[in-house]
Amino acid sequence: MKRLAVVLTLILAFAFGITAAHAGKLEEIKERNKLICGVKDSVNLFGFVDPDSKELVGLDIDVCKYIADKLGVPVEFKVVTSKNRIPMLVQGSVDMLAATMTHKFSRDEKIDFSITYFMDGQKLLVKKGSGIQSAADLANKKVGTVKGSTSEKNIKNAQPKARVISYDEYPQAFMALKQGKVKAVTTDSGILAGLKAGDDNPEMWDIVGPFIASEPYGLGVPQDDSAFRDFVNKCLNQMWLDGTYHKTFRKWMGYEVPEGWTMELWPM
Ligand code: GLU
Repeated sequence: MKRLAVVLTLILAFAFGITAAHAGKLEEIKERNKLICGVKDSVNLFGFVDPDSKELVGLDIDVCKYIADKLGVPVEFKVVTSKNRIPMLVQGSVDMLAATMTHKFSRDEKIDFSITYFMDGQKLLVKKGSGIQSAADLANKKVGTVKGSTSEKNIKNAQPKARVISYDEYPQAFMALKQGKVKAVTTDSGILAGLKAGDDNPEMWDIVGPFIASEPYGLGVPQDDSAFRDFVNKCLNQMWLDGTYHKTFRKWMGYEVPEGWTMELWPM
């Protein structure tokens, strides 16, 4: 009898262990009744604090809200930086990242990514009349960008003679440009457009150069949880097909989704 009890306990423990191992993010989020999204809070147009409502707003915020809505749970935002966002996802402090993050194979070693939900490329923000047109003009000049970003690596490859100064977030790099501490700020053109548009004197700044690198944004999701990744990809497809993506894009970018780009759409 005692032996039977032990065997039964073992069977139950084993069965429970299997279930627990398979209980992925989707179940965890539903059980917790909350989606925790890692977002930026100082990137105009993508993830920033609305000065009136004091709420987080932007394209990345709207993407999180759409997915939370499809999950039927409220969303909680946690602020991330370019440097700490992947560790935060790996540690489980956030369920997902919607944080202007480029999908790179090297990043894919630690986390997984959704399909591309925003397509951009890296450029330069300079003072009007600076004479700087491209990375070629940055030899022996200081250029500001952000720690842990692709921009930081790409500019070093594009112009090894530039002196790259990395800040925690983009507004600090822009402040350095205004104070004359750097001659350019480099990152994705949408982020640069947000810096320029958010300034008191936008006409003082130019976004220049051919693209230094291509920057396809993916949502960061935990490694090896295909049920959650599939769900997120399905939400993105739905967001495109029901028109929400186009509305959201227009709202934040101020123009239509470029004709040459479409989200990867999978038939049902
Ligand atoms: N998209 C680039 C990256 O993922 C630059 C923007 C950012 O720092 O988030 O690194």
